[in-house]
Amino acid sequence: MKLILLGPPGAGKGTQARRLMDEHGIPQLSTGDMLRAAVASGSSIGKMAKEVMDRGELVSDDIIVGMIAERIDEADCANGFILDGFPRSLAQAEALDAMLAERGLKLDHVIEMAVDDEALVERITGRFTCANCGAGYHDRFQRPKVDGVCDSCGGTEFKRRADDNEETVRSRLKVYHDQTAPLLPYYREKGVLSEVDGMAPIDEVTRQLRSVINGG
Ligand code: ADP
Ligand code: ADP
Ligand code: ZN
Repeated sequence: MKLILLGPPGAGKGTQARRLMDEHGIPQLSTGDMLRAAVASGSSIGKMAKEVMDRGELVSDDIIVGMIAERIDEADCANGFILDGFPRSLAQAEALDAMLAERGLKLDHVIEMAVDDEALVERITGRFTCANCGAGYHDRFQRPKVDGVCDSCGGTEFKRRADDNEETVRSRLKVYHDQTAPLLPYYREKGVLSEVDGMAPIDEVTRQLRSVINGG
C-alpha cells in the first residue's frame, strides 16, 4: 500500500502514520524526520536545511526529491510506504508521479487530514516526543500514562522541536496554505483523494483512516 497523509503542520500525520506503520508493516517516510537527522549529523544537507527549517520555510525541492527517491528503493519499502510531510509543493508532487511511474508503482490513497489553524497552533506548541524511541505526546491531548515516562519504551527523556514555537508555526501555516494546499485539487482530479476529520480525537481519526484504507 502506498499512501500519502496530507495536512498542515500539527494535523496528526506523524501520530497516525506510526499507528498505520505498526498495523500494516510498512514504513513511515517523514521528510521532516529525515531532515532533522541530517541536521543532527551535521551533514552538508543538514547545514543547508537548518536555517530554512528554523524560519518555517520549505527546503528546496531538489534536496527533498533526491532524499525520497533514494529512500523508496530501500528493501523495507517493497510492500509500500506512508508518506508524511511529502509532497509539499506541486513540483514535489509531479516529481513523485514521475518517480512512481518509472518504477511501475501507483498511489493507493491520498488522505487529507483537515484541522483548523487555531487548533494547529495549540497542537504544535504542546508537542513533545520521546528522545529514545520517538513516540509522540502532547501537554494536553496525549500525556504519557505515567508522568515523565514514555508509554512505549519506558524512556524518561523527552524533546521539543526548535521550530515548534508560535512564531514559526504561523509562517509554516502560511507556507502550507500557499504551497501545499494546491495539492488537494491536484489529487482530487486524479481521483485518489479522501478526507478524514483531523479535529476528531486521535482514536477516532485512526478509525476513519482504517475505513478509507479498507475501502469502507
Ligand atoms: P504532524 O505530524 O501532522 O505535524 P503530529 O502527529 O506530530 O502532527 O501531532 C501534533 C501534536 O498534536 C502532537 O503533540 C500530537 O500528540 C497531537 N495530536 C495528534 N493528533 C491529535 C488529535 N486528533 N487530537 C488532539 N491532539 C492530537
Ligand atoms: P510538520 O509536519 O510539523 O510541519 P515536518 O517535520 O514535516 O513538520 O517538517 C519540518 C520542516 O522541515 C518544515 O517546516 C520544512 O522546513 C522542512 N520540510 C519537511 N518536509 C519538507 C518537504 N517535503 N519539502 C520542503 N521542506 C520540508
Ligand atoms: Zn519512548
